[in-house]
Amino acid sequence: MKAKTLCDIPGKVFKENPEAVKSLVRDAEFICRKCFRSANSKKYLCKAEKLVKA
Ligand SMILES: [Zn+2]
Repeated sequence: MKAKTLCDIPGKVFKENPEAVKSLVRDAEFICRKCFRSANSKKYLCKAEKLVKA
């Protein structure tokens, strides 16, 4: 995958590369305030915000 952030990845890529995407969102600690995507590193999100664990 060449995309800079998960936010840039179109939905069809998620379907075509489920394993690659899963490795980025596994144990997600950050969420994008703009796109509502989640990832385990803020570098994959354009407006990352740390998730607060309950
Ligand atoms: Zn975003």
